[in-house]
Amino acid sequence: MVNAPEDHQSGLLKLNLDYADEIVEASILPDKEPDYVLGVKVPHHERSALNMAVKHLRTARKYFLRGNYRSFARYLGRALHYIQDNTMQPPLKVPLPLIRLKDYGPHDSFEEEVDRLPVPEEAILRGLREELTPLEVVRIILSVSPGRTPKEAIYKAAYMTALAIKAVIKPKRPPDLESRYKLALTRHFFLLSLPLSLTLIALAFSLMVSSSGGFLVAVLLLIAMYFVHRSDDEFNRVSFEMEWFREE
Ligand SMILES: [Zn+2]
Repeated sequence: MVNAPEDHQSGLLKLNLDYADEIVEASILPDKEPDYVLGVKVPHHERSALNMAVKHLRTARKYFLRGNYRSFARYLGRALHYIQDNTMQPPLKVPLPLIRLKDYGPHDSFEEEVDRLPVPEEAILRGLREELTPLEVVRIILSVSPGRTPKEAIYKAAYMTALAIKAVIKPKRPPDLESRYKLALTRHFFLLSLPLSLTLIALAFSLMVSSSGGFLVAVLLLIAMYFVHRSDDEFNRVSFEMEWFREE
């Protein structure tokens, strides 16, 4: 989002946020110092940008709990950039020979128009009033579509910004978190125990007959375990929430 810094600031100051300046500064960083995943630049306005936003929010929360407010501001600002970008219409994709037309494409005028609009206070207040768990906020972040008009876009940007900041600073604690975690953990290890014991049997077998076939089976089983681990959704959800509320 190319909003003038003052615009962001007026919104953030209403949250009585310390480090508002640092957050605003960091929120323009992804355009200057992009994020990379496996050496590839994270494209803005795409799903991978939102995944990066969630990753940064997690990191911001970790630093917030530790009282490292400088790093908290840095990651929160970066996350907000992607969250706000996502509320704007994506840049027009034009074929290469027409690339110069891009400067006059709808995206530029769209964002310029957004920049001229005042930040809707009501959207910020509405966002701050919501009582949502971090997971609920993440779901909203991942499902928001860009605004169809500049007015709708800036409303969404302001609302989402407030939701994200609240999720990091004052999130709602999900009910029964500890007991749900214990249950999910037990179930998770139960699910893993079958491939784990088969792995051990395969390893023991290959040692006994000193063949490499057993090792191959063991590796395959370890990969299977990894997929069991990844696909245990309830476990992943509860772990995410536990981490969010774990004070070190
Ligand atoms: Zn951007």
